[in-house]
Amino acid sequence: MEEVLAKRNEIREANRTGVYPACEGCYFLEERNWPDQQSHLIRVMDIAMASACQLRCKYCYTVLLPEIASNSTYDLYQICREFIDNGWLSPNANIVWTGGEPTLFKRFDDVLSMLMFGNIRHRLFTNAFRFSDSVALGMQTGRLQLICSPDAGTPETYAAVKGRNCFEQIKEVCAQYARVRGDFRLKYVCISENANRKDADGFLDMIRQLHINHIFLDVDHGIPTIGQSIIDTLGYILAKARQSGVNVDFYDGVKGYPELRLPERIEFRADECKRKDPLEGGCCLVVTPKTGLEGLTPLRMVSISLDQDAIRLCSSGSDPGILLPEFPLPAGYRAMITADITVGQQDLMEVFYIPEDDTDYRQQNSVSVLLEPGRNHVLMTAFPLYGCLKGRVRLDPGIHAGEYLLHHLEVSTEKNTT
Ligand code: SF4
Repeated sequence: MEEVLAKRNEIREANRTGVYPACEGCYFLEERNWPDQQSHLIRVMDIAMASACQLRCKYCYTVLLPEIASNSTYDLYQICREFIDNGWLSPNANIVWTGGEPTLFKRFDDVLSMLMFGNIRHRLFTNAFRFSDSVALGMQTGRLQLICSPDAGTPETYAAVKGRNCFEQIKEVCAQYARVRGDFRLKYVCISENANRKDADGFLDMIRQLHINHIFLDVDHGIPTIGQSIIDTLGYILAKARQSGVNVDFYDGVKGYPELRLPERIEFRADECKRKDPLEGGCCLVVTPKTGLEGLTPLRMVSISLDQDAIRLCSSGSDPGILLPEFPLPAGYRAMITADITVGQQDLMEVFYIPEDDTDYRQQNSVSVLLEPGRNHVLMTAFPLYGCLKGRVRLDPGIHAGEYLLHHLEVSTEKNTT
């Protein structure tokens, strides 16, 4: 224990004056006035024994990196006993159980009941392969929050993502936990295999049937970028779950993609879902600081530059505008524009297009939306109502001279049913 304390102090000191090398880039790192004196050594304990699980999830580190899965033979019960007997474990501790599957730990029931004292709170991640009475008891006492991540809404996808064909069994065990009436939450780790409507709807059905009132959305932390279908699916689940009164949180891993502004993009997509059912056609153009200025043409007295989280449009004259890059719009489809834009005053944003039977931009071939000062998330009505587009679409972010910050613009298409 002296060794642990010495290391902890070393890390703490390094982070006070700079960054401890292993902490560099960690999104949990935050500057705060941390108290120096702690009455107990352990206030947060993460119990993770990666050596045993009935499933083989595609994104799980125990599957991807079997060499780091622990084969420890130490006695968890004895270690926890020592923590308690020496007064190291705070009676207000938060204990997180991950795995592998925690209920497979040796003497799991004994360890859990030993750790049910004082005001200790548990968060336990289970695969719900089998029901545990001691977990249910912990839930009933209000000390244990249980989380299960089915990651699918159909048996086929469940088998593809989780490596075992047992969707119905998992649903049954989840139903048993739901009947306990404790704090039971579900999670959806969205990867390419389950990034679709059918699974999202199946998952939403499960939430409804089990009366779950809190879910987490997550992504595979191991992949470098998150595709549009994942954002679409998470946005869809977010919108539908919130519409039914379910609380939705992003799991910490989602926040690990700051360069993609992932929570905002998912929220943005959810916002769109609330107003229409947009995911049938698909996204055909995205303009963000990440995609850069390529294909954008400033008009009149506008200059364009890149900021960290926005494309900056500066206009020295009234009626600023830019031409967007050309995008495909097949016959029989129409386009929707969603934009995330900051403006300095109340303004009118307009989008002009040229239908195939015309030659220039005209007021009758435009859609507009009123912007409030500050940041706006807006959805522009579908266009054109009939026929195909000719040339490029023109975006007038406002009618005043000044500065406009375009954080995100997306054009999606949908079948024209009018
Ligand atoms: S259930 Fe959990 S521990 Fe088991 S393979 Fe899946 S993610 Fe890994």
